[in-house]
Amino acid sequence: MTISWRIQQILKGGFQGAKGASAMCVALVLGAAACAPAESGLGALQEAISSGQCPVESDQVGSFLPSLPAQRTVTVSVDARFSTAEKAAISDALSQWNRWSSDSVGREFFEQTTASIDSDFFPSESANPCDFAVPGGDGDFAIVRVTDEALWSDLSLTSANPAATLRCRQGDSLTRQVLMIRSDLVRSEQWMSVVLHELGHVVGLDHSCNLGAGTDDFGSCTGLDSDHPYRAAVMYPKLSVGSLSTGRGLEVKESLQENDRLRAACLYGGAL
Ligand SMILES: [Zn+2]
Repeated sequence: MTISWRIQQILKGGFQGAKGASAMCVALVLGAAACAPAESGLGALQEAISSGQCPVESDQVGSFLPSLPAQRTVTVSVDARFSTAEKAAISDALSQWNRWSSDSVGREFFEQTTASIDSDFFPSESANPCDFAVPGGDGDFAIVRVTDEALWSDLSLTSANPAATLRCRQGDSLTRQVLMIRSDLVRSEQWMSVVLHELGHVVGLDHSCNLGAGTDDFGSCTGLDSDHPYRAAVMYPKLSVGSLSTGRGLEVKESLQENDRLRAACLYGGAL
């Protein structure tokens, strides 16, 4: 049995710093080849791409991850420790994706519930990061409030990463995932933007472009104009916090953009 996992995250950008490539694949467990560049098992999607039903540009063909595993609404356990305002932002982001999926795919992706989550949901001595203890299985997942810096560094994340989604898969299928949010690293104005982005990973979208050098089927973000669809997308890998002294340049993306909707429709066979 081979289980592999990867971290999907969002970077804070802007004048504050947040330099360096994102650690998209921080480790691999149980002996699989390291960091496979492209996800496989997306046969229907590949067919849709080659037949022209999914009109993504060639440099986004590799920007997809395994989708939610079941043709049903998945239960999202939201950590009870989030504040009221934080929970409201999470609800708004879940609703935004539900509106899209309802309109395009004919079902709501998410049903929200609240859960008590153990602060030690990651066993500290486990070699397998997919060995976590949060409610859900079979496609369900949790949104967890994380304050433990050690956990963050164990996952090769830094203070430039306010949130991350850990996705575990077996073969071509998603087996488990968990969305982790560092409340202390997310600015209140950007809560919904951050959650909306992470939920994009939860449903199976990789970034709109690659912060690194890029490949033919997953293009680099470098050199994109400010109004380029990949740059405008919620799934762009960075969100600027702007100037800490003036607040200018603080980015907020609270609604799905054209490129986000296009790729989600490709992945789920929904209406464009
Ligand atoms: Zn991300």
